[in-house]
Amino acid sequence: MINKELENLIQNLINQLSTIQNNFDDYQNKHFEKRSSHFFCLELNGEAGELANLEKKEWKGKNIEFAKFEDEAADVFIALMNYCNAKQIKLEDALINKLKRIEKIRLENEEKGEKY
Ligand SMILES: [Mg+2]
Repeated sequence: MINKELENLIQNLINQLSTIQNNFDDYQNKHFEKRSSHFFCLELNGEAGELANLEKKEWKGKNIEFAKFEDEAADVFIALMNYCNAKQIKLEDALINKLKRIEKIRLENEEKGEKY
């Protein structure tokens, strides 16, 4: 049994994510050097690390400009799109499958009175 929020999320993923991923592929292929999934995986983790560093600095009390978080989050998203395209992962399908598995576990935990 899928709740309304997850149903909406899945419906929007079906309608839009593969289009966005394909648009990234077209843009990347037309205007940038072709690179392997290995490269993009390292880039993805590098960008995630840059985002984590900002969070660490903020956590330690430093004032970080919000635009820097936005910029690094965008880098992570772009790197993820490029990684999935290089690896031929259809993120829409992978995400829907994963969300359904998470929801199944969440519901099982809920029945036992446990949090996910
Ligand atoms: Mg960056």
